[in-house]
Amino acid sequence: MNDCIFCKIINGDIPSNKEYEDENVIVIHDLNPLADTHLLVIPKKHISCADEINESNSDVIAHVFEAVSKVTKKLGIENNFQVLNNCGENAGQSVMHIHFHILSNKEGRVLWSTTELK
Ligand code: 5GP
Ligand code: ZN
Repeated sequence: MNDCIFCKIINGDIPSNKEYEDENVIVIHDLNPLADTHLLVIPKKHISCADEINESNSDVIAHVFEAVSKVTKKLGIENNFQVLNNCGENAGQSVMHIHFHILSNKEGRVLWSTTELK
C-alpha cells in the first residue's frame, strides 16, 4: 500500500532495525521502545486491522506466532514476554497495518496485567 509506513519498511524504502524476516513476516525493533525489548511482528501482507482477519487470510496469524516463538528464543526472552495488538485508533492503533508488539522486561516485571482490570 502506497502510503503505509510498514509497507515501506517491508519494501526497504524506510530503514529499520530488523531482528527476523521470512517470506511472511518481518520483525523489527520499535522506534520508541516501551520495554527493555520491544519488537513489532508485521505480516508482509497489508491488512489494516485485526478485525479484517477472516477465513481467507487467517494464515498470517499463524505465521505471526511462529515468528514470535522463533524470535523470542533467539533473543533469550522466551517465557518472559507479552504480545499485544491494538485494533482501531480508539484502542491505540497508530499505524494501520496489522502488527503485534512483543514486550519484555529484563527483571521479568510485567508491563501491564489483566489483574489490573479485575
Ligand atoms: P500501534 O500504536 O499502531 O499499536 O504501534 C505502532 C508502533 O510503531 C509504535 O509503537 C511506534 O513506536 C512504532 N513505529 C512507528 N513508526 C515506526 C518506524 O518508522 N519504525 C519503527 N521501527 N517503528 C515505528
Ligand atoms: Zn501496509
